Amino acid sequence: MEIACLDLEGVLIPEVWINVAERTGIEALQATTRDIPDYDVLMRQRLNILADHGLGIREIQDVISSMAPMEGALEMLDWLRERFQVVILSDTFYDFAEPFMRQLNWPALLCHKLVIDSDGKVSDYLIRQKDPKRQSVRAFQLLNFRCIATGDSYNDTTMLKQAEAGILFRPPKNVIEEFPQFPVATNYEQLRQEFKNASLRDL
Ligand SMILES: [Mg+2]
Repeated sequence: MEIACLDLEGVLIPEVWINVAERTGIEALQATTRDIPDYDVLMRQRLNILADHGLGIREIQDVISSMAPMEGALEMLDWLRERFQVVILSDTFYDFAEPFMRQLNWPALLCHKLVIDSDGKVSDYLIRQKDPKRQSVRAFQLLNFRCIATGDSYNDTTMLKQAEAGILFRPPKNVIEEFPQFPVATNYEQLRQEFKNASLRDL
């Protein structure tokens, strides 16, 4: 039995924070896990910037509601769901993901949660657990699932290592150089091929 474990941002949807940065004109919000590998440092920085500019959950959700999954993402997901059990393992927040999940026909999603004040300010965030992507893969393995994982960035690499097979999807150059053990797919056709290569079954 095989599970496909997918990162969300950079694999199926664009980077939410980069779009919020572009829309609001706040350049400092452009930073992602590609730039700052320590997720807590990155998130504290983001929350401080939002507070400094008086931006709340409503402003961020306005941006998100105008975004769509990447072209071909739904077809990729449907292809996988016909062949594997599929779970999305993301460092995003349920509060952000909902508009995308609707457009992707509600796949299973394991991610985090924001703490939002009564006035709509994002005051904190709740991480479900430490190293959540890798821990999720470990848990599936305890249930005797074989995991094939794909992601684009630093926060995916422990998941890719833990999985029986890991695939990088459109990663930045520094991630390719640092993790040469993983095959790289640069489009969905190649990603489908890498899943076929990684599967023990004849797909
Ligand atoms: Mg990503």
